[in-house]
Amino acid sequence: MRRSCKVAVIGGGMSGLVAARELLRESHQITVFEKSHRVGGTWVYDPRVESDPLGLDPHRAKVHGSLYASLRTNLMRPLMGFSDYPFTGCDFGDTSELKFPRHEEVLHFLEAFAADSGLIGFVKFGAEVVKVKRTSPDDELSAPWMVKWVQADQENIEHFEAVVICNGHYSEPRLPQIPGIDRWPGKQVHSHNYRTPEPYLNQVIVIVGKGPSGFDISVDVANAAKEVHIASRSLRFKAGKIPGMENIFEHEVVSHVDPDGRVHFADGFSVLADIILYCTGYSYHFPFLEINNLTVDDNRVGPLYKHVFSPRYGPYLSFVGITSATIVFLTSELQSKWIAQVLSGKCTLPSENEMMSSVKEMYDEMEEAGKPKHRTHWLYDKMEGYLDWLAAETGLPQIERWWFHMFDALLKSFISFGHGFRDKLEKMPYSNLLNEVK
Ligand code: FAD
Repeated sequence: MRRSCKVAVIGGGMSGLVAARELLRESHQITVFEKSHRVGGTWVYDPRVESDPLGLDPHRAKVHGSLYASLRTNLMRPLMGFSDYPFTGCDFGDTSELKFPRHEEVLHFLEAFAADSGLIGFVKFGAEVVKVKRTSPDDELSAPWMVKWVQADQENIEHFEAVVICNGHYSEPRLPQIPGIDRWPGKQVHSHNYRTPEPYLNQVIVIVGKGPSGFDISVDVANAAKEVHIASRSLRFKAGKIPGMENIFEHEVVSHVDPDGRVHFADGFSVLADIILYCTGYSYHFPFLEINNLTVDDNRVGPLYKHVFSPRYGPYLSFVGITSATIVFLTSELQSKWIAQVLSGKCTLPSENEMMSSVKEMYDEMEEAGKPKHRTHWLYDKMEGYLDWLAAETGLPQIERWWFHMFDALLKSFISFGHGFRDKLEKMPYSNLLNEVK
């Protein structure tokens, strides 16, 4: 028999919205808690920055969003939709629309998705969840969860059978340790607090990290800065000027910094810099979660069965969107379908012991392959197998292969064309792009 559960969904960003849709499709009773006053999460551009540009002060007034004004997606338009609700304008023909939409368009897409899926009435806006805990001893697995939230300065409590956590993981800066940094006199900022290039006019900037944000911000800030020096572990070009970019230089990692403002790189080069801009990623953070059986250790959230379920609490505590280096929207959609079906009884989970063994196996494999802990939730080469598995588990037809071909083509372009990958791909018909990876 199908069960209908009373479920709290924490967060009204992309993951919370698609989780809500899937839970409703399986006839669960849901409440979505969203601390801001609109849906969309990350995709709501917020021009404010935090008072502490490094995000170290735990008492700072927090800003959720990390978007910069010029941001365009790093995945192509067709990869930004859901399996049955494609991203607007995505017809695979050569349209005049950008292949990499601007952030405003993604927000419009999510707002339309929420409206068309009838989700808005299920969202409590301005409702920040401040505590989630069990109300009875841990061995009573059917015991309800207590969710406490603050709305208009009022504390409220309600009990739920299940909690789905979708609070995002791009708000809490992660910083490297740089020898000498305590006495370095310049300004330091994390990319969480980067919005526009203007404050960086004529400055010499060192960007630490060259993930998607480091990559894009270096180009954006170079419009105002005197020089931009990127320090990263993945040096693809020889240290020195990047071809075609007048004032951007690439180096190996920062080895140390001096009290006179000099920044030294492992390639032996050094520069007198005004600002260090850290594009070093984010930490998972669940300040409201009061349970014993889940930790965040060097950015490994665990134990989590297939990045979704807590083995201890089984179907009743789950996470959507923990994974990265993947086709993000599709991944959250499939994770959500799985959660909804496990809660209704359509799918079953293995025993707690079996789930723990699976988690341990993944950790062992990572260790053997020399992968650092903080990459636990990066999918990359595991993505296709993971998404196919979720689709099979939830009774969907096999995921159409173009999703993966397009993702592969994108990665290849990123490696071949470096900073110019969007410009190159904008000019290339989708069909050519897909042919290249076949
Ligand atoms: P979020 O969008 O962060 O939503 C979380 C929601 O939870 C927010 O609305 C927040 O207010 C709410 N919330 C948090 N805590 C609480 C609480 N205690 N109580 C109530 N509500 C709470 N993905 C792509 O697919 N393509 C891209 O090109 C891309 N570019 C990106 C660029 C940047 C700079 C960043 C930071 C991310 C990018 N991403 C991209 C990833 C992006 O995070 C996902 O696309 C998506 O927004 C994740 O959705 P989410 O719902 O998991 O998290």
